[in-house]
Amino acid sequence: FIVYLQPPPAKYGGRHTVTLIPGDGIGPELLNHVRELFRFSCVPVDFEVVHVDSASTSEDDINNAITAIRRNGVALKGNIETNHTMPSNHKSRNNLLRLSLMSDGRVPQIWPMTVHLDRFTSVRSQHSCHFLSLSTSLDLYANVMHCQSLPGVQTRHKNIDIIIIRENTEGEYSSLEHESVTGVVESLKIITRNNSLRIADYAFKLAREKGRRRVTAVHKANIMKLADGLFLQCCKEVASGYPDIEFDSMIVDNTTMQLVSRPHQFDVMVMPNLYGNVVSNVCAGLVGGPGLVPGANYGRDYAVFETATRNTGKSIANRNIANPTAMLLASCLMLDHLKLHDYANMLHTVDIGGQGTTSEVVQSIMRIIQSGGPLTTEI
Ligand code: ADP
Ligand code: MG
Repeated sequence: FIVYLQPPPAKYGGRHTVTLIPGDGIGPELLNHVRELFRFSCVPVDFEVVHVDSASTSEDDINNAITAIRRNGVALKGNIETNHTMPSNHKSRNNLLRLSLMSDGRVPQIWPMTVHLDRFTSVRSQHSCHFLSLSTSLDLYANVMHCQSLPGVQTRHKNIDIIIIRENTEGEYSSLEHESVTGVVESLKIITRNNSLRIADYAFKLAREKGRRRVTAVHKANIMKLADGLFLQCCKEVASGYPDIEFDSMIVDNTTMQLVSRPHQFDVMVMPNLYGNVVSNVCAGLVGGPGLVPGANYGRDYAVFETATRNTGKSIANRNIANPTAMLLASCLMLDHLKLHDYANMLHTVDIGGQGTTSEVVQSIMRIIQSGGPLTTEI
C-alpha cells in the first residue's frame, strides 16, 4: 500500500535501515527466513535487530524498540507475547508500539478531559507510565489488511478481495480499566471525533487510490449509541467528500455472519479497533489462515509491518512447520513502502498449497528468483 503524507524513509548510501523485532513464538524463525531471502536477492535493506523480552518487567527493551523505529521510520516485527497473568499495569508491548499516549501517562489532548482519569490509577500506575513514555507518538493509527485469495490454497470461497481498515489507537484498546468496587470492573472504550474522521478519511483515500467502489463502516451503534454513533457519523461525514465511492454501514454481528456466508459483497471495510481485530481474523480464516495474510500499521510518520492476525504461534515454534507466507508478504509490503517495488515483486512469488516445510517454501522461492522465472508462481 502506498501511504500518504509520509516523509521519505531513512536512507544512507542507497540502503535503507529497518528496525527488526523478532518477537516470540515463530517470529524469530520467520524473520530469519526474510533476512535470508533479502540477502539472497541483494535487497538494499539493513536490519537493526531489537529484542523485546515479553517476560521482562523492565521497559528498557520496548524503549529501545520505539527509539529505533522513530529513527528508522520503518519496522518489521514478530508478535510479542502478552502474558495475561501479568498485573493489570503490565501493558501489551505490541499495543504500546502502536499507541500515541503522552509521556506523562495522560491521554492525548484530543481525548476528552471529561474522562475521569484519576479514577483509573490502578491501570495508569507509576510503573506503566514508563511504558507510556516509550510509546509516544508512533501513532500508528491505521491497521491495513488486504485479504486476498491466494492461488493454490483450497478454501470454501474463491476470489476474495477485501481491504480492512482498522482504527488502531483507541476504542476498546485504551488500556483504561479498573475495579471500581470489588466485583465491578469498568473498562473505558474511547471514540474520538478526530480519530474517527482520520481513519474514515484514510479508508476513503485508499479506496479511491486503489480504484475500489465501496466503503462499508462496521459498528454497533444500535447499542453503543454515543461511541459507535460518533464513529458512524464521522464515516458519513467523510463519505460526503467522496461522491465517487459508495458508502454503506453494517452492524458488526451481521457483518461476521455475512462474511462467512457471502463474503464477495464486501470491498473496503472501516471499523473501530476491537471489531477490526475480530473481523480481520474472520477474513484471514476465509483465505486460508494466520500463516497467509500480512498486515501493516501506518501513521503519519512511521510504518510497522507484521502478520495480519498477530499470532505468536508458540505451539508450532522451532519445528520448521510455520507457514512463512504472511511474514514474507509483510516484508513485501515493507519493500513497497520503501518504494523498492522491483524487489517486492521479485519476492512476491505468491505461493502455497502443498505440505512443504518452512524452509522448503523459502528454498523454492529462491529457485524461482534465481531462474528469473515468473513473478507469480504456484509452489
Ligand atoms: P499459539 O501461540 O498457541 O500457537 P496463536 O494464537 O499464536 O496460538 O495461533 C493460532 C493458531 O494459528 C495456532 O494453532 C497456530 O499454530 C496457528 N498459526 C499461527 N501462525 C501460523 C503460521 N505462520 N503457520 C501455520 N500456522 C500458524
Ligand atoms: Mg499465541
